[in-house]
Amino acid sequence: MKKIAVIGAGTMGNGIAHTFAQNGCEVSLIDISEDSLKYGINTIERNLNRMVEGDKLSLEQMQFTLDNIKSFDVLSDGLAGVDMVIEAATENVEVKMKLFSQLDEICEDHVILATNTSSISITKLAAITKRSPQVIGMHFMNPVPVMKLVEVIRGGETSDEVTQKVMQCAKDLQKIPVEVLDYPGFVANRILMPMINEAIYTLHEGVSGVLEIDTVMQLGMAHPMGPLHLADFIGLDVCLSILQVLQDGFGSSKYAPCPLLVNMVDAHKLGVKTGEGFYDYSKGIKSKKVSRPFVK
Ligand code: NAD
Repeated sequence: MKKIAVIGAGTMGNGIAHTFAQNGCEVSLIDISEDSLKYGINTIERNLNRMVEGDKLSLEQMQFTLDNIKSFDVLSDGLAGVDMVIEAATENVEVKMKLFSQLDEICEDHVILATNTSSISITKLAAITKRSPQVIGMHFMNPVPVMKLVEVIRGGETSDEVTQKVMQCAKDLQKIPVEVLDYPGFVANRILMPMINEAIYTLHEGVSGVLEIDTVMQLGMAHPMGPLHLADFIGLDVCLSILQVLQDGFGSSKYAPCPLLVNMVDAHKLGVKTGEGFYDYSKGIKSKKVSRPFVK
């Protein structure tokens, strides 16, 4: 891929843009919100600076990466000459359906339309386009520049050729792709989200506290981060959307989101990105104090 567009400059979009740009690809970073674009570019600069300070990148490589990224707040402006689009906008089916319809209208016929969705059906997004063999899931993990896995999700009509291209593209980014089929939550979130939801239920029912639940999973199961901390990191709104897709997709109440999660999203306590979730991030990236909103 020589040139790509990334739609959405939030948590995942800026990480995807960073990763492609660092690997020599021209990137159009597109968002409807100017604030999000500023946040995205600032985050990329901050992460690159951290890599330079840790001797993982030279100043020249940092500049090369930044020079490869251009930002746009109008969709059509950023799409000229791209080989692939990676959609990383808000996890909402209506938002994504509208975007895929617009992308299909604007992009040249050969362009691959990939989505970073955590759970929404690739087949459903493909069906709104006239190029379903070229629609695919390319699900990066957070934080994108660090995490090795990419779930490559074949929609019902995704072609072998496009699947192979996207698998190779992930390898070219020094990632490890795994091919999976299009079922709700794919593999990663089908397994992860019920665990996070259960951790929230455990807190909700007063079985234990935030720090205690995370400590059990970190020390007892050798998880690098506890499930409540991870939920904050993913974004509680994103967790809620994924659980709703799992619940609808499988028609099973076993995925019903915990009312505490719903309450916290309603209160706009979304985790790291809003400064408060299960932990407090208002004084920086690391949690400073444990808060227990909505829990006695
Ligand atoms: P986010 O809320 O941090 O960012 C979403 C961005 O999309 C915002 O900047 C918003 O302004 C922008 N946006 C919304 N509608 C748009 C439109 N029509 N055109 C352009 N931009 C638009 O969300 P995120 O956490 O980065 O998630 C993005 C996608 O990645 C979702 O599909 C999510 O499920 C998936 N994902 C998230 C994680 C995670 O850990 N957060 C991990 C893997 C995949």
